[in-house]
Amino acid sequence: MAVCEILAVGTEILLGDILNTNTRFLSRALADMGISVLYHTAVGDNPGRLSDAVKTALGRSDIVITTGGLGPTPDDITRDICTKEFGYELVFRPELEAEIKAYFDRAGRTMASSNLRQAYAPAEATVFHNLNGTAPGLGMKKDGKTLVLLPGPPYEAEPMFRQSVVPFLEEYRTCTIVSHQVRTMETGESNMAQAAGELLDSENPTVAPYCKMGEAFLRVTARAETSEEADSLAMPVIEELKKRLGDYVYGIDVNGIEEAVVPLLKEKNLTVAVAESCTAGLVAKRITDIPGASAVFHHGVVTYANDVKEKALGVSHETLETYGAVSEETAREMARGIKKVSGADIGVSVTGFAGPDSDEEGKAPGLIYTALCADGFEVCEKIETGRNDREYNRFVASSRALNLIRKYIKETDR
Ligand code: ATP
Repeated sequence: MAVCEILAVGTEILLGDILNTNTRFLSRALADMGISVLYHTAVGDNPGRLSDAVKTALGRSDIVITTGGLGPTPDDITRDICTKEFGYELVFRPELEAEIKAYFDRAGRTMASSNLRQAYAPAEATVFHNLNGTAPGLGMKKDGKTLVLLPGPPYEAEPMFRQSVVPFLEEYRTCTIVSHQVRTMETGESNMAQAAGELLDSENPTVAPYCKMGEAFLRVTARAETSEEADSLAMPVIEELKKRLGDYVYGIDVNGIEEAVVPLLKEKNLTVAVAESCTAGLVAKRITDIPGASAVFHHGVVTYANDVKEKALGVSHETLETYGAVSEETAREMARGIKKVSGADIGVSVTGFAGPDSDEEGKAPGLIYTALCADGFEVCEKIETGRNDREYNRFVASSRALNLIRKYIKETDR
């Protein structure tokens, strides 16, 4: 089986000024192709040491991938040294000059003469186009050895790898990895893991639990020769997980609860309006992040201060005085109020303490109420995140408000 080595070039890596994330990205991407990475090397911008590192890498590995040092400045030496060590010569390639010039034209800038260095490449090399920068990547194959040169900035190297290097390395691929995400809310990581039970021990597909911003996910990853075969291994496990976790599962391969909720609202032809206090528009933002949200969302208000809750939503002064702004009573009146003033089918509200400090009434950060009001239906949920983290609490509050909509639609569907 082919052996691969990743060689990160740059003195700033050795100094600890930057984190070598390119090597991590490449290792993962190569593992997904079933290519064994056996060596990680980092070397500074020093011609002698870079020559030695390339010689060593080409001596022990079939595939060597370098990142960094393809820029226009004199310390960018990877192209020159690697080409020499591979036994090729750099020649001026006019099509590369045209490409670099076009990049500058698109950016409305003039190309510096130093950039001409980047128009040199071995005549035998495959050029990988750089959509996000000036340095072209290069691929060379000779006598059973493959050398790939990628630029340093991850936003240049990663798309270049996906678009051009993956096909260039296709002959080395031994498998395809397919990965799916089962996303749940409100079950918690340990309950979710308990429900997944023995599936967590399976080897192909693997099932791995993890948590992010108050949600628990399971990643189901299958390995096979083709993606169809990998999917046929993953799908029955996903179906089994859905069965075991029931309504806690809000989506497969979605990027957030909003991606599940907006299509559901559309499907049921329902509109929603939101009244937000501690989330200050985050629920509305997440709904409107989804293209086509205008079909289901027309109206959202941020009622941060108590008097605005009264004026804009009709929350009673007495309720606010008696129970406080962060209370079930206020949340319910906010949801009723926004449904009434908007005329939407569903009114949703969020009120809580994002933190970091307790409020003057001594209520803890992370105490949140979210309510939903629809015709003949009303519900309010209390959430206690126990966290003193403003960003986390606001995000969880918005997720739970969105989940309330999902649960309402599922509930009324039965
Ligand atoms: P440029 O044309 O931008 O000069 P280059 O190919 O010459 O690109 P370098 O000059 O070596 O790349 O690095 C440019 C930047 O790319 C670094 O300052 C750093 O931010 C990032 N970078 C370089 N190598 C790595 C790496 N291994 N992992 C993550 N980021 C990196």
